[in-house]
Amino acid sequence: MSPFLRSKIVVTLGPASCELLRLKALLNEGVRVFRLNLSHGDLAFHKRIVESLREESAERKIEISIFVDLPGPKVRLGEFKAFEVKEGDSLSFGLKSDVPLPEKAFLKVVEEGDVILLGDGFLRFRVERVERDRAKVRAESSGKLTPRLGVTIVGKSFPLPAFTEKDREILSEVLSWDIDLIALSFVLSGKDVFSLKSFLKERGKELPVIAKVERAEAVENIEGILKTTDVVMVARGDLGLTLPLEEVPMVQKRIIREARREGVPSITATQMLESMLHSPRPTRAEVSDVANAILDGTDCLMLSGETAVGEYPIEAVKTMNKISSMVEREFDYGSALACSRVWAQNEPLDAIAFAACELAYNLEAKAIIVATTTGRTARRVSRFRPPVPVIAVSPSLLTVRSLNLTWGVYPFKVRMCRTTDEMLEEALKASQRSGFVKEGDRVVVTSGVLPGIPGGTNIIKVETV
Ligand code: PEP
Repeated sequence: MSPFLRSKIVVTLGPASCELLRLKALLNEGVRVFRLNLSHGDLAFHKRIVESLREESAERKIEISIFVDLPGPKVRLGEFKAFEVKEGDSLSFGLKSDVPLPEKAFLKVVEEGDVILLGDGFLRFRVERVERDRAKVRAESSGKLTPRLGVTIVGKSFPLPAFTEKDREILSEVLSWDIDLIALSFVLSGKDVFSLKSFLKERGKELPVIAKVERAEAVENIEGILKTTDVVMVARGDLGLTLPLEEVPMVQKRIIREARREGVPSITATQMLESMLHSPRPTRAEVSDVANAILDGTDCLMLSGETAVGEYPIEAVKTMNKISSMVEREFDYGSALACSRVWAQNEPLDAIAFAACELAYNLEAKAIIVATTTGRTARRVSRFRPPVPVIAVSPSLLTVRSLNLTWGVYPFKVRMCRTTDEMLEEALKASQRSGFVKEGDRVVVTSGVLPGIPGGTNIIKVETV
């Protein structure tokens, strides 16, 4: 993979990709962000993956980012023997019923006339009557009913907070692993993100949070979510169950647009290359979907089943790389910059970030080099979608790893410096080492006055390496 690919790929690891050879191949393809979906597999399985990835990345001297995705309050069917359902069949869901559904919130929410979808929506039922312990339903499609399928009531959401007791239990083990971010499922509002952040703070583990937008309420509360979260995910799988499917594309565009305006990196997730679960080639529509997500302004493109359980995990990553490469080649950086000029007017940091991008564009510089403590300056630069790589250097490992999720940013850890000049020297060395720039290249440099002190970006320079 070209090291200059700007859109970041998130790979979900699972049985199809957890072996060392596969992990090596993914790293060779340039993947730097890995997701462990804790809804599947046991914790020991995921822990082994973290250890293998860390060993491999340490050997290669690269900084990768690993995030765990908490299960959250997903309502699921209980345990029973799988059976075939035919359209028109009558059955019941609930506590004392044909199909066990142990979550009490279900009976609080369900009403006559509701439509219930199971799994990805392949099984559909209409509620005919609600009794004390169960809901009588009629099947409107045919298929195999299996235990633990996810349950959605169309247009409704279960009144359950995103950060559950089970998530807390999981985290008390997972927080001792070497992980970098935590994804919170079924977020309703900024309050959910805040609950997780408080939990982490109490344990001295202030890791960045990824808020997964997958309920209608989260879309309504997106402003508050973006103010509290570090990263946002457009989780189209569940979003497409709780919202009418046709609403998802515009919701995706809106979330990405607002996230970019706020300087919050976004991940577009689910079914991006779904057909590659079983085919070495994607459909035309999937290729367009990936390309359009990049054009919408997403920072990251996520692979889920394709890499976790699919037959062609490496091919799926290669395919995404090819699509990104093509879009990035054709992308109109000049227009993107001109259109985002309005974001540069609010505060000095934004004005400086914009000026750095404009200088790089006008002077055909080879890179923008950012010395950053918290990563904020690099994220502000990225949101203007500059035409050249943004080399971000930081003495903070947490910052470096979190920047792997930001479009166009290539983060490197450098030693803690005493002066700005020392820090910039380190930054130039890191850019050369990484092959992004060579002697004689023109670069734009931006940084704060005192390295290590967050929030003080006020220097912008044009330099020749
Ligand atoms: C989704 O619903 O799109 C999603 C990413 O969540 P999960 O894979 O955890 O269901």
